[in-house]
Amino acid sequence: MIKMSGIPPEIKSKLGLVQIYTGNGKGKTTASLGLAFRASGRGLEVLMIQFLKPPEDYGEHLAAEKVPNFTILPLGLNHMMSKVPRETDIKLARETLKRAEEEIYSGKYDLVILDEINNAMSWKLLSPEEVITMLKGRPENIEVVLTGRGAPKEIVEYADLVTEMTLIKHPFDKGVRARKGIEY
Ligand code: ATP
Ligand code: MG
Repeated sequence: MIKMSGIPPEIKSKLGLVQIYTGNGKGKTTASLGLAFRASGRGLEVLMIQFLKPPEDYGEHLAAEKVPNFTILPLGLNHMMSKVPRETDIKLARETLKRAEEEIYSGKYDLVILDEINNAMSWKLLSPEEVITMLKGRPENIEVVLTGRGAPKEIVEYADLVTEMTLIKHPFDKGVRARKGIEY
């Protein structure tokens, strides 16, 4: 049974894969935003849930307000710098995963992007097993994108599409700080 969100069945019936954008090079979150833009153009309902990153001051939040059928929920608190997980980081990551589950299982969205969730797994705030269990039970024909560095091998094995952004050069290494409109 195909759940309908208002898009034609010939488009909807081909959705339902899991994609991963990982690696140390720039372009993981922006690739998923590019996909969101394209999907919106075809009338897909798109949701991005942001793990870990601070909730304010991203160009994509301002742009999403102007893009039809595209919602961003910034649910992170800050970039966790410590390699040792803090209780608050674990609790928030779990709550955010729960929210992701509710939104995915609602059937309202055709494309759901879980931004920086790979970092949450890599830092052991979430286990790949719990993320896979959540994804396995989801309604049919919902495409899911997982972004962030360090995607664990279990989730890479489970996914259908995996792209690794390779760091060759980044201006950060010559002292150029994050720029408005380019990095955020
Ligand atoms: P973007 O959001 O620009 O697509 P990303 O999602 O691939 O980047 P993250 O690991 O989420 O990269 O990076 C967080 C921030 O660090 C972003 O502002 C990003 O532009 C910047 N960044 C990405 N790659 C590097 C790098 N190799 N060195 C320094 N900063 C980086
Ligand atoms: Mg990112």
